[in-house]
Amino acid sequence: MEFIAAHDLDEALAAKADRPDATLLSGGTDLMVDVNLAHLRPSPVISLRRVLELRAVTPERIGAGATWAHLESSPHAALAQAARTVGSPQIRAVGTIGGNVATASPAGDGLPWIAAADATIAVRSVERGERSIPWHDFFSGVKRTSLASDEVIVGVDVPDDVPKVQEFSKVGIRNAMVISTVSCVVMRGPDGFRIALGSVAATPMRAARAEAFLNAQPRISDTELAELAEIVAAEVRPITDHRSTEAYRRHASGVIARRLVERCVSR
Ligand SMILES: Cc1cc2nc3c(=O)[nH]c(=O)nc-3n(C[C@H](O)[C@H](O)[C@H](O)COP(=O)(O)OP(=O)(O)OC[C@H]3O[C@@H](n4cnc5c(N)ncnc54)[C@H](O)[C@@H]3O)c2cc1C
Repeated sequence: MEFIAAHDLDEALAAKADRPDATLLSGGTDLMVDVNLAHLRPSPVISLRRVLELRAVTPERIGAGATWAHLESSPHAALAQAARTVGSPQIRAVGTIGGNVATASPAGDGLPWIAAADATIAVRSVERGERSIPWHDFFSGVKRTSLASDEVIVGVDVPDDVPKVQEFSKVGIRNAMVISTVSCVVMRGPDGFRIALGSVAATPMRAARAEAFLNAQPRISDTELAELAEIVAAEVRPITDHRSTEAYRRHASGVIARRLVERCVSR
């Protein structure tokens, strides 16, 4: 296996321009599973571990190399909550948000927050420089993205109007070290509620109908919350697979969306 350890972003970008077939390596917590279990033999591999520029986190940009351990203390409450649920301390110490975004698993726990925040994915290449891709254009299917072969994800760009009141929750088959069966982020700001879900469609999704319903209510009581849960359950697009059934995912989506809305209302 040919291994290129990039020392900075320019070196990484140059290596990717030179070898667009190369596989990028950040924390390796997704990639090495494929190497070990699916007998993937990527070559060359460009390691981003030493690229310090990618680890920087500012109010405007979460660097692709920011680890979950770092994001556990993010000022964005729901992102911090999501970070705390990823894997184990060992996984969070090396696993990155950039790897989560690039893998684009429907169960990626960082993705509902990105959708609720209406964030954009910043990508860079030697040839075209930097471009910003809205999250809904970036995620194009199960483990599919619009990242070009010569590009590196440099970060998640955070709009300045992300609501401060936000909550994350996920449902899985146990309480820890679990891949989400359903995950959800709810945010409440001056423009109303935002609801995003993961593991219930090929890509992360916003529950637009549920948001419109909720934001049209003059007050939110148990009646509206019950209706909201039904709308969310109808709006998601889950499948039945080895982790859960479509019916359970629909039900759980409504339940956790309702709970998170209740938490946001009470804050
Ligand atoms: C035991 C275990 C538990 C886990 N639990 C969870 C969990 O609870 N929730 C969850 O969401 N995930 C979980 N994961 C999956 C994984 O930890 C996360 O998706 C993590 O964020 C991946 O980041 P990484 O840096 O390790 O990515 P890597 O494995 O290094 O890379 C993953 C993919 O992204 C590409 N890539 C990496 N960085 C970039 C970049 N900057 N630009 C372009 N492409 C890039 C790589 O080429 C590769 O295809 C778990 C994994 C394991 C092994």
